[in-house]
Amino acid sequence: MDCEDIEECADISSAASSWKYPSKVVLAFCAARCSFENVFTDKLDQELTYLKGVGPTKSELLKKELGLASIRDMLMDYPFRYEDRTLVTPIAELKGDNQVVQLRGVIENLTVVGGGRKKRLTGKLRDQTGKVELVWFRGIKWLKENLKTNTPYTVYGRASRFRSKINIAHPEVELYNPKKPSSTTFVPVYRSTERLSASGMDSKGRRKVMKAIFEQLSAKDLPEHLPEYLVRKMRLLPYHKAIATIHFPVNSNALLEAERRLKFEELLLLQLDVVKHYKARRITENGHVFESIGPLFNTFYRDHLSFELTGAQKRVLKEIRQDFKTGIQMNRLLQGDVGSGKTIVALMAMLMSIDNGFQGCLIAPTEILSQQHFQSLQSICKGLDLRIGLLTGSVKGTHRKELLKLLRLGEIHILVGTHALLEDHVQYQNLGMVIIDEQHRFGVAQRARLWEKGRDKKPHVLVMTATPIPRTLHMTIYGDLDVSTIDELPPGRKPITTLHKTEYHRPKLIKFIKQEITKGRQVYVVYPLIEESAKLDLEDLNNGYEKLLHHFSPPEYQISVVHGRMKQEEKDFEMQRFVEGKTQIMVATTVIEVGVNVPNASLMIIENSERFGLAQLHQLRGRVGRGAEKSYCVLMSSYRLSEEAKERLSTMVRTQNGFEIAEVDLHLRGPGSIEGTQQSGLPMLRIAHLTRDREIMLTARKIAERILDQDPELDAAHHAKLKQYLKKYTKRSRDWSRIS
Ligand code: ADP
Ligand code: MG
Repeated sequence: MDCEDIEECADISSAASSWKYPSKVVLAFCAARCSFENVFTDKLDQELTYLKGVGPTKSELLKKELGLASIRDMLMDYPFRYEDRTLVTPIAELKGDNQVVQLRGVIENLTVVGGGRKKRLTGKLRDQTGKVELVWFRGIKWLKENLKTNTPYTVYGRASRFRSKINIAHPEVELYNPKKPSSTTFVPVYRSTERLSASGMDSKGRRKVMKAIFEQLSAKDLPEHLPEYLVRKMRLLPYHKAIATIHFPVNSNALLEAERRLKFEELLLLQLDVVKHYKARRITENGHVFESIGPLFNTFYRDHLSFELTGAQKRVLKEIRQDFKTGIQMNRLLQGDVGSGKTIVALMAMLMSIDNGFQGCLIAPTEILSQQHFQSLQSICKGLDLRIGLLTGSVKGTHRKELLKLLRLGEIHILVGTHALLEDHVQYQNLGMVIIDEQHRFGVAQRARLWEKGRDKKPHVLVMTATPIPRTLHMTIYGDLDVSTIDELPPGRKPITTLHKTEYHRPKLIKFIKQEITKGRQVYVVYPLIEESAKLDLEDLNNGYEKLLHHFSPPEYQISVVHGRMKQEEKDFEMQRFVEGKTQIMVATTVIEVGVNVPNASLMIIENSERFGLAQLHQLRGRVGRGAEKSYCVLMSSYRLSEEAKERLSTMVRTQNGFEIAEVDLHLRGPGSIEGTQQSGLPMLRIAHLTRDREIMLTARKIAERILDQDPELDAAHHAKLKQYLKKYTKRSRDWSRIS
């Protein structure tokens, strides 16, 4: 219900309740008063209980199990696939690969096997080409009494392989009547759960409910909400037609058209929301203007840069420079693969800031990374008139006091550190540029706290990440960030050879480790860390460590061990020993994932690699291949792997391109699983897919931009319905309240 005038509604309902109207009447009255649109559409808000064949028990279950409470919910819960019932597969061609198939044949040898909970009914379906086993665990009695032998049946179900034999569990069976072929050839398949199925609300049951719903509805119950000019120009199916077709398509062409319409609509709403939010931020957030390129930048570029910037680095610097001129606060995501040279770009952005009289700061997620950044910045900037400070938890006492004083006086130009930079007593004279490294460790809230560190205006923010995000996704979830991409590695990088091996190859691996160490190289051995079973992980790591000790014992070899249960100081100490080359092997859980730089490390061994996500594997592999030497990454796994794990590991072996890996990851896991998306307020997409529907997304983006350019508040009469629909759709009410 969409109340334009909530107070008025409240009045009516309280008055009505004192007259002792049943509350349903009040609600209906209220709905009618609030928006006359709803007079036509409130049929959709009807509860499911009143539908033919549903009733209170089933409607309660639908709500509980799938969150479906109204007719609208049911209409919006699209089938997740369709069965093409024009195809009949010959039994001999079954692969047992879990595909849903339609078969035709006679049922033989019906037998009840086992007892108690293992009791089941088995039978064979035979056609001209062969036989396949059918199994039922429920409804045994009824089936046994009713299934006919010597009579052809049509059978639908999932053909799976069980102990090397193919069978179909719980097939749908239907007497085959050649004179009356089934009316629907394209059958929708709906979500269900075990409990729902048990009460008759399996896909088939839900299909019946959908039929009942459509019997009640007419086209005017599903009015068009997209502007007419768009429907015409994009040749979209009208809304009511699209909805009817998505549930009961007559053929595959109609289905495609319905999908196109609904996907476009969904992505248009999404993009309207994102673009509106983005535009609003650009209106409200003033930023410092850095007019000129000054002496620091120029000197650095001329005398300190020992290499030519890559084309991508130059392009990104131009984008940043452009932002500095606009008077709008920069909020930019810089993504580039590990080793693509983000740090230099960040430094040069800070130099621009300093040349214009502002300080800069660089935040890293760990103490050791802060130290590394500090040291490398100092060495690259040697000879420049520039003071760099390091502030971490371990900078204490008078040293800390002195540092903070210099910062306040503006005598420190760049401050490097951990979260400590966010503490209240850290005061800058004039902070103009904030760099955040490895963004996924920082939440939105922390970013916001940093903004407050600026004096009168928020500082410009550049967030660096080595976990690339496909374009369609960042266009969506990082709506408030502009994105720059370094998609080119500095020349001369040697590709890392990645191998996938199993336990069988362990002796060879040990030999290989020895060879690398003899050459003076260092080695990482990484174990997965899974929150739920931290104890098990530690066991894995300890066992692995013990085994390694057999082959690599002191004093000849030194091993560092780092895991999540250690104190920060202990971790830093162990890491430092490895960084300094005092140990040759680093055995660790994923704590090393973020950014350590040990160019001498040339071999990365990832144990139980099937338990890592793709993004993590890619990050980990990025720890090697940083020096002049040829580097290797060995993915150890057990012999038996799920299809998905195989895909992950083979992707790693095949490519080193972070963007390609991110696309595969998104494809395998879905966008919701990508770090940051949960908190992003990304609305659930029912039908569109962020990567597969890329083209539609790009169109929707363009159109959303054009609409909002011309009608920023969607106040035009021809956008009235769209505006209303968008309001309903968007969960981000804060954006709307701020804008309107
Ligand atoms: P990341 O993007 O992972 O943060 P870094 O900024 O740490 O990458 O750069 C990795 C290494 O590459 C550093 O040693 C850096 O000096 C070097 N580097 C950066 N840009 C270039 C370039 N254009 N040509 C050659 N080497 C470069
Ligand atoms: Mg880096």
